[in-house]
Amino acid sequence: MKVKLAKTAGFCMGVRRAIEMVLTESNKSEKPIYTYGPIIHNNQVLELLASKGVHSIEDLEGLKTGKIVIRAHGIPPKLRLYLKNSGLKLIDATCPRVIRVQTIIRSYTRKGYDVVIVGDNDHPEVIGLMGYSEKPAYLIQAPEDVADLPQLERLFVVAQTTQDEQVFDEIITAIKKRFPNTIIFNTICEATHQRQQEVRSMAEQVDSMVIVGGYHSGNTQRLVQIADKAGLATFHVETEHDLDKERLAQMEIIGVTAGASTPNWMIKNVMQEIEGIRGRRDSFLFLFFKRLVKFLVLSNLAVATGAFSFAYAISAVFRIGQGELFPILAFLYIYAMHVFNKSLDKMASVYNDPEKAAFLKKHWRFLNLLGVIAIAVGMIVAYLISFPTMIALFALSLLGVFYSIPIIPDKKRWKYRL
Ligand code: SF4
Repeated sequence: MKVKLAKTAGFCMGVRRAIEMVLTESNKSEKPIYTYGPIIHNNQVLELLASKGVHSIEDLEGLKTGKIVIRAHGIPPKLRLYLKNSGLKLIDATCPRVIRVQTIIRSYTRKGYDVVIVGDNDHPEVIGLMGYSEKPAYLIQAPEDVADLPQLERLFVVAQTTQDEQVFDEIITAIKKRFPNTIIFNTICEATHQRQQEVRSMAEQVDSMVIVGGYHSGNTQRLVQIADKAGLATFHVETEHDLDKERLAQMEIIGVTAGASTPNWMIKNVMQEIEGIRGRRDSFLFLFFKRLVKFLVLSNLAVATGAFSFAYAISAVFRIGQGELFPILAFLYIYAMHVFNKSLDKMASVYNDPEKAAFLKKHWRFLNLLGVIAIAVGMIVAYLISFPTMIALFALSLLGVFYSIPIIPDKKRWKYRL
């Protein structure tokens, strides 16, 4: 069994920007922080954010203090005004691509044009876009809807940024037929375009497709529809626990992609789980090797071995050092520093690599003991090389450990790290 990961899988620019803005706010001491609706359609990320004091709300009634984040979808201008006057501090994470559509709608409807929006009923981005129209806006989803439009003299068309391009093209053909002078703005964003294109081209190379992303995420659902339409066995999963392993084990080549709001670690977890499925031709030896590699990476032994190899190559090429002593020293130092830093900066792992965080939590005593032993043995090895080497190692070890310790309190709003 082969697994192919789409190049475009993962956060788009707009979602990454919104999450970064929320995380920046959550690191400040002013609380509470709300997001107007879930910042992304991903329960796991929302749980992590809740643990940092960021809560998603839909009902604004009675809210007067704290900060409120407008997510990438944007909001209607009336709601923005209401929030501004409510006493809440506004953090605007509306995606610049969505702002562009809002601006087009406002500017052309002011000039007297009617707007037709190709988008999903009740989608937050569409609700926001409709609010920018200074005339009644017409919302359609399919080419058949064009016949239901009233007779319009001057009109223009925009799309919700995550619409299916093929459907949009079909709608445009139908509109042009009925209203030849229509101005068309294809506002489907580049991130959406690339993801959809990649699914279409992968459809020729794989026999099934796993799409990772929230069940309520519009752009993820669109990828599912495209894969399905292409005749692939399609699996929409939110996490690795949703995989239908029995059916996947029957596949030869599995494609994996993800919605624009799916974190990389979630995709990685799904990839690892699929790779762990014993395909019809995978041997036990192959699976054992895969698990061994995983253990070496999670335990930091792989990175330490890399340091050993690098130091060995340098001393062999330039004929410096004393045999294997420097490479051994590099192995011990890098191993110990990685173990200590991962233990001290657990939150980074929780957000970037939950699997590693869980591994560290389970084995932290044992790993830290190994780290202490590594640094102690490193001191002896350094002393065998020379006394100044031992002093240098001692100083570097201190610097390495302090790297993850904030030495200015959080209240000062910024951290200085050695
Ligand atoms: S899908 Fe496009 S428009 Fe939507 S948030 Fe991402 S980059 Fe912005």
